[in-house]
Amino acid sequence: MHSAISLTLSSASPITGGSYAGEASSSSGVFFRSNFAPRQLRFCGLRREAFSGCKSSGKAVLFKRLSANSKISASLSGNGTPSKGFDYDLVIIGAGVGGHGAALHAVEKGLKTAIIEGDVVGGTCVNRGCVPSKALLAVSGRMRELQNEHHMKSFGLQVAAAGYDRQGVADHAENLATKIRNNLTNSLKSLGVDILTGVGTVVGPQKVKYGKVGDSETVITAKDIIIATGSVPFVPKGIEVDGKTVITSDHALKLETVPEWIVIVGSGYIGLEFSDVYTALGSEVTFVEALDQLMPGFDPEIGKLAQRVLINPRKIDYHTGVFATKITPARDGKPVTIELIDAKTKEPKDTLEVDAALIATGRAPYTQGLGLENVNVETQRGFIPVDERMRVIDSKGELVPHLYCIGDANGKMMLAHAASAQGISVVEQVSGKDHVLNHLSIPAACFTHPEISMVGLTEPQAREKAEKEGFEIGIAKTSFKANTKALAENEGEGIAKLIYRPDNGEILGVHIFGMHAADLIHEASNAIALGTRIQDIKYAVHAHPTLSEVIDELFKSAKTSCIVDYRLWIILYAAERHYSGAQAKLPLK
Ligand code: FAD
Repeated sequence: MHSAISLTLSSASPITGGSYAGEASSSSGVFFRSNFAPRQLRFCGLRREAFSGCKSSGKAVLFKRLSANSKISASLSGNGTPSKGFDYDLVIIGAGVGGHGAALHAVEKGLKTAIIEGDVVGGTCVNRGCVPSKALLAVSGRMRELQNEHHMKSFGLQVAAAGYDRQGVADHAENLATKIRNNLTNSLKSLGVDILTGVGTVVGPQKVKYGKVGDSETVITAKDIIIATGSVPFVPKGIEVDGKTVITSDHALKLETVPEWIVIVGSGYIGLEFSDVYTALGSEVTFVEALDQLMPGFDPEIGKLAQRVLINPRKIDYHTGVFATKITPARDGKPVTIELIDAKTKEPKDTLEVDAALIATGRAPYTQGLGLENVNVETQRGFIPVDERMRVIDSKGELVPHLYCIGDANGKMMLAHAASAQGISVVEQVSGKDHVLNHLSIPAACFTHPEISMVGLTEPQAREKAEKEGFEIGIAKTSFKANTKALAENEGEGIAKLIYRPDNGEILGVHIFGMHAADLIHEASNAIALGTRIQDIKYAVHAHPTLSEVIDELFKSAKTSCIVDYRLWIILYAAERHYSGAQAKLPLK
């Protein structure tokens, strides 16, 4: 995908482990409903603000936010006139999802915006990540279903033997990436964002140059600059990638082969998703994982269940607690060889001979050629250091004025929607409104069959926090087995788990394993983002029969001790009904 004009996206330096590890930044970026008339007193934050029975997570930002909000009118004025003395209000380096999200929001705010891209619009997510991988996973889901005779029979369906055309599957992924890339490019063009082609380099404060390699370069000035240069696959030392038999996700997504036996090094979400694809298409998979357990980034209980469903019954085996120190591609009729050592003792453990190896050991930030030295910035393990507002920090620990970094390059949370949300947050700031993104409210998902999703803390993380801060935690769980919609689909395998504070109803984390878990998580992530407490959300109504009732039951089964709050809620509810002229009818269960 990398064109000749452009960047050589090679690993700079290590490393990110699991992209799922939510960054424990503090949340002051909470927003509440903007109207306090009695008719609006439904699931709003007022009770938390007004009553002390439960501690409030809402900060005193409430009224500030309300007044700020009222000033913001989405201007949609096109790519406006720049601030005096500058070519642009905002220049973004990198047109991945982070840069794209920032550019769109900037135009909405009336900022004159340019985006510099050295390769193709869409970056990793669209061209080498989320998009093509989900196309392959859509195929693997259907293959699994069609191949499962028992499953089909349980619906009364008869299907002839399922098969696939490898090139057809690969084309589906490629076509989807092309389509989404065109959509992204067109959205930028139609809003008037200037797309500048070439490698972007920061040459000084508020100054960037760009140009195709070998061509003359153009210097432009901008009031604010966002670095959004993303990441590349991280390949540990000793591993020789030939792109054919020893591959990274960049190669695997092209599906040029479906090997009979493939080793996947790393059992994070990328490795796990590829194991789902490869086993559905007929490969045997062996995981090599340095830590003592598979899927180390997940809540341990969810990880165990996922292993029972996604690993054990499939043609997958694994070696945990081992490093792959040397991997040599297949050549001269010899297979791929993988030398394993014990992760703790460093003693040689085993040598595997297989058809292919996929290196899924995380991502390395891409900052090559960015000119960070021109603004006195040193990377940390390759990542660009930023504060909670994505403002870049220099080597003396001071903020570099007007310079921000979003997305994979800052390593806070290496997910597409996190990159985009960080971009929007920065644009809010540069257009005059303070904004801090609550990373603990950002969901993550793994699109296996069934899916895994999570938001907030895992149980061990929550226990650690509880011990440090001196509070108890509560755990609630519900099963997909009791859900009508899941059973109608014959997909009863799955659980949802809630980690919360019984004393004030705060949601600390939600983890879901089951059908459409990636869609179901948003009720929880939005609740965390909005500061909604369990004692509020448990009265929200869900359509029947839907999978969302799994989450409804989850909140309802949590035991909070916010009695004072609840009684006052009853009074308020009755008052609201009274004001609206309706008969007070309490939704008690
Ligand atoms: P990128 O998307 O990497 O974009 C950076 C852009 O900057 C690139 O286009 C690059 O060419 C350009 N660039 C770099 N340097 C320069 C320069 N100096 N000048 C000009 N341009 C430059 N995330 C999810 O949320 N959900 C998923 O399902 C998901 N699945 C994934 C599956 C795989 C296989 C992989 C590899 C990743 C997946 N991700 C997923 C992660 C997601 O792709 C990244 O988190 C996201 O793309 C990061 O966006 P970004 O804008 O920070 O960087």
